[in-house]
Amino acid sequence: MKDIISKRAKLVDASGIRKVFALAAELKDPVDFSIGQPDFDVPEALKDEAIKAIKAGQNKYSQTAGDSLLREKIAEQVENEFGWVRPAVLVTSGVSGGLLLAFMALVNPGDEVIMPDPYFVMYKHLVNMLGGKCVFVDSYPGFNLPVEKIADSITDKTKLIIINSPCNPTGVVYTEQRIKALAEIAAENDVPVMTDEIYEKFCYDGRCASIATYYDKVLLLRGFSKPYAMTGWRLGYAAAGESLKDVVEEMTKIQQYTFVCAPTPFQKAAIAALDYDVSDFVDEYGIKRDLIYEGLKDKFELVKPGGAFYAFVKAPGGKGTEFVEKAIKNNVLIIPGNVFSEKDTYFRISYATSDEKIRQGVEILRKLAE
Ligand code: PMP
Repeated sequence: MKDIISKRAKLVDASGIRKVFALAAELKDPVDFSIGQPDFDVPEALKDEAIKAIKAGQNKYSQTAGDSLLREKIAEQVENEFGWVRPAVLVTSGVSGGLLLAFMALVNPGDEVIMPDPYFVMYKHLVNMLGGKCVFVDSYPGFNLPVEKIADSITDKTKLIIINSPCNPTGVVYTEQRIKALAEIAAENDVPVMTDEIYEKFCYDGRCASIATYYDKVLLLRGFSKPYAMTGWRLGYAAAGESLKDVVEEMTKIQQYTFVCAPTPFQKAAIAALDYDVSDFVDEYGIKRDLIYEGLKDKFELVKPGGAFYAFVKAPGGKGTEFVEKAIKNNVLIIPGNVFSEKDTYFRISYATSDEKIRQGVEILRKLAE
C-alpha cells in the first residue's frame, strides 16, 4: 500500500509529556508533577471580560495581526520596557503559534538553529519539521546560559539562536551578565535571537533579565497561558523592534493562511489581563519552589530554580527513564529528561500543583532515592 504519511510528519515523535499524561489517566489520585500548567483558575475578573465580549457579539474573526486595542497596549508595554519605538506586534494562538510562525518565517532547509540543551521540546520538533538543523549546546550541570559554547557553535549556516529564561525544563533564570555577553556575541556575528519569555512573570529572586534590553535583533515571544492560567484560551504575542519588523510582518502573512487570528473574545479579555496583577499567584509559586527545593536538595542533585514552575533533577545513577518508570509505579508522575535533552540522565518536576501534593510527592521521591 502506498505510504500516505509525509516524511515531515514522521520526523516528529509523539511528545513524551503526553505519554506520561496518558499513563496518569490509569492511576488513582496520583501526584501529578508532569504537565506544565498552573493549578489555579483564570481570575474571575478576566473570565468576566471574556464572557462580556462573547455576549457583546465579539465572536467573529479579528484582524490577522490581532485586536487593535490589544496590539496597542502590548506595543506600549514593550516600548516602555525595552525602548523599541513603535514595535511590530502580532497576537498569536499561544506562544506555540508564535513559535511555528517564527520558524516558518526564518528557517530554510539546512539552516542551523542554536539552542541550549535542555530545551523546550517544541523547538526541536518544529525546526526538524521545517528541514532545519538543531545545534544543541550543552548547559549541564549548572544550566546557566552557555555563552562561550554558543559562540563556538556559530557558523555561516547559523540562522537563529533561541533562548528561554526562566527555562522549561530547568527552572533556571539566566543571569544578566550572561545575557549581556550573549547579546555581544550575537551582535558581533549579526545573528538574530529569539527569546521565549512565557514564564517572565514567574520570577522568584528578583527581576528576570531579558536580552531585548541589550540587543535589537530580538524576536520576543510572550504569552498569556501561564501567568493567567488560560492555557486553553490560546493567546500569546510576538514583538520586534525596527531591525526584525519584517520578520513579524512575514509571520503575520503566514498567520493569514494558518491560524487566521487568535480567538477574538479572549483577545478582548487579554486587554484587561495586561493590567492584572498576578504577584499573589507568583508569591504562592515561590513557596512551592521552596517546598520542592528544600525537600529534595539533600537527596538529589538539583540547581535551585529561580523561575517558571519546574525543577530539573539528576536521577539516581544518572538513569532518567528508569527512575521515571519507578516513580510512576509509585504514583508520582514525572517526565524523563530525554524529552527535553539529548541526554537521559535527569527528570523534570512540574510543581504546579497543591502544596499538599508537593509534600506527598517529595516524600515518595525521597524514599525512591534511597
Ligand atoms: N514555550 C515554553 C517554554 C513553554 O513551556 C510553553 C508551554 N509549555 C510554550 C512555549 C507554549 O505555550 P502556549 O502555546 O500555551 O502559549
